[in-house]
Amino acid sequence: MAQTKKIKTEEKDDLSIDHALRPRAWSEYVGQEKIKDSLRVIIEAAKKRKESSDHVLFAGPAGLGKTTLAYLVAQELGSHARTTSGPALEKAGDLAAILTNLEPGEILFIDEAHRINPLIEEVLYPAMEARKLHLVIGKGPSARTLSLDLPAFTLVAATTRENLLSQPLRSRFGATFRLNYYTPDDIKKIVLRSAGILGMDVLPEAVAVLARASRGTPRVANRLLKRARDYAEVNNKKEIDAKVAREALAMLEIDELGLEPQDRRLLTIIIEKFNGGPVGVNTLSAALSEDRGVIEEIYEPYLMTLGFLQRSPLGRIVLPPAYEHLGIKKKGDLL
Ligand code: ADP
Repeated sequence: MAQTKKIKTEEKDDLSIDHALRPRAWSEYVGQEKIKDSLRVIIEAAKKRKESSDHVLFAGPAGLGKTTLAYLVAQELGSHARTTSGPALEKAGDLAAILTNLEPGEILFIDEAHRINPLIEEVLYPAMEARKLHLVIGKGPSARTLSLDLPAFTLVAATTRENLLSQPLRSRFGATFRLNYYTPDDIKKIVLRSAGILGMDVLPEAVAVLARASRGTPRVANRLLKRARDYAEVNNKKEIDAKVAREALAMLEIDELGLEPQDRRLLTIIIEKFNGGPVGVNTLSAALSEDRGVIEEIYEPYLMTLGFLQRSPLGRIVLPPAYEHLGIKKKGDLL
């Protein structure tokens, strides 16, 4: 009981820290300059025309700042965002209720848009295109369709799997922005900004160590920083130097490039069981007892950016830099 309580408090602390770390102005949102510039143009144009902005889609791996951007767009439009997600919308009526309750000019943010049920998507199309809500009332021969006007609103959707988004939905966004992993310099800036907000003393070498292990992902950078802070606190360290940062990473079983045990397992299984590949993703999913979606969405994108893994038509192949990083000799190599 006491244990559960403690975990709950830690989770709550983490949540309030996350809240404090979320950028609240464009100037605090590090990197992604091209996306920010384009969004500013879309927003300014909408403001000038005194209309709601085009619907916008953000695509890219988890933790890169899609939700944060949605809130910033709302703020710039002088409005606020109502939030829901694909899996939270269980019935067409759920979406209808949200849409009819929107205030003029509001943003509707739908996270995990690739998980919207196709029947619910049908409700979204006329809402996005013509601000109409078509409701079917009654059943059988006496059923009638009622058409309601909706307030001007902007849909901002986010997805980690753009390829799973249906074509009709995708084509209804006025702009699609693809977020990519952050550069090491941008991640360093994010670590420094977060350390400043948390009042932490992090030495430059430690910033570099944490940034390198952050998988180019702001959410990971913030998580590693929080864990380094815990580690420093428990070990009575006033400041976080490179040694403390490395020890905190080792405690989490995260290596200097940010690989976690599951990433290393994925690579070693391909190397040891499938001779380095190619191996099909379904076979890999069975060998790892891991969902195919998780492999494709969480593990592979980062391993591919490191040049450790390649997706080929025949399956996944582990590339030489991964052997080097793991200290495994490639079969057939003499050295
Ligand atoms: P997503 O919706 O893509 O999963 P979030 O918008 O929830 O990602 O971002 C995760 C966290 O990372 C946020 O709470 C925020 O603190 C931080 N973050 C994301 N992008 C940036 C950025 N560009 N600059 C600074 N912090 C960021």
